[in-house]
Amino acid sequence: AASSFSGDRKVLLAAPRGYCAGVDRAVVAVEKALERYGPPVYVRKEIVHNRHVVDTLTEKGVVFVEEADEVPEGELLVFSAHGVSPAVKQAASDRNLQTIDATCPLVTKVHREAVRFTTKDDFHILLIGHDGHEEVEGTFGHAPENTTIVNGPWEVDQIEVPDPDKLIWLSQTTLSVDEAMETVQKLKERFPNLQDPPSDDICYATSNRQAAIKKVSPETDLVIVVGSANSSNSVRLKEVATEYGARRAERVDFANQVDEAWFEDAQTIGVTSGASVPEVLVQDVLRLLADYGYDDVEEVVTAEEDIIFSLPKEIRKALQEVG
Ligand code: SF4
Repeated sequence: AASSFSGDRKVLLAAPRGYCAGVDRAVVAVEKALERYGPPVYVRKEIVHNRHVVDTLTEKGVVFVEEADEVPEGELLVFSAHGVSPAVKQAASDRNLQTIDATCPLVTKVHREAVRFTTKDDFHILLIGHDGHEEVEGTFGHAPENTTIVNGPWEVDQIEVPDPDKLIWLSQTTLSVDEAMETVQKLKERFPNLQDPPSDDICYATSNRQAAIKKVSPETDLVIVVGSANSSNSVRLKEVATEYGARRAERVDFANQVDEAWFEDAQTIGVTSGASVPEVLVQDVLRLLADYGYDDVEEVVTAEEDIIFSLPKEIRKALQEVG
């Protein structure tokens, strides 16, 4: 066996990783709002689920609130990338707030499906997703009378539906692709007439990041996922890593949370990051790993991404007015 202190220590850096188009758009929207209107800019919930992003924006004058009723009348409120229910929009308008909707267009797509299938087609929705996650609350809120949340395959046997022949499934955008498919499979065994949505709701960024870590994991002793604890897609990356052969997987917000003890017997370390994670945080981790002798970094690229979303229309308009 090779010496554990020789140059054969290696990092496999998964790509794609980090920022997706929806997160980038939401963060830039808040930065532009700060430039255009000056602080304070209010944001309902975390703009994206990342500690570093939230702390940095807070320093620049963003005030994060839980609900619209915490915002003084007439002020500016940004809705986060995870999307909101119509009731939340109503509450903001009742308070005379100026709003910018930074909901990711891929979440808005799911909202539209929820409305269309329940109003036009009279379906009942089985929404696969994590109860309590902001995105699930927002999607659920578009058809609250006609939606049942299914957290995972283990819940399929217990759910009750009004008419088993009028069912369609939708999902949260940031699930484990494999687990979501297992849930759909179980649902179809129980409800053979369950309809598929016209296209998958799990977004390109979620599936691409999972595919990349699946490729890397079998070769690694340890996988480090950079991402916050409340970031659904980051937590899924950690699960996928161990399912696909990493001996150990750990999630950190920052490089200083990496524990030396994880390196024991670790020759090859995989590194990735969730869709809400700025690349600087990954570079911090790579620097730390280099200090421990893991300075041979190979990037493993499984897909190229070139998706860009235009900024929310409210901010585009405001920027045009300035000229
Ligand atoms: Fe949009 Fe997917 Fe990024 Fe969520 S993870 S913001 S759905 S692109």
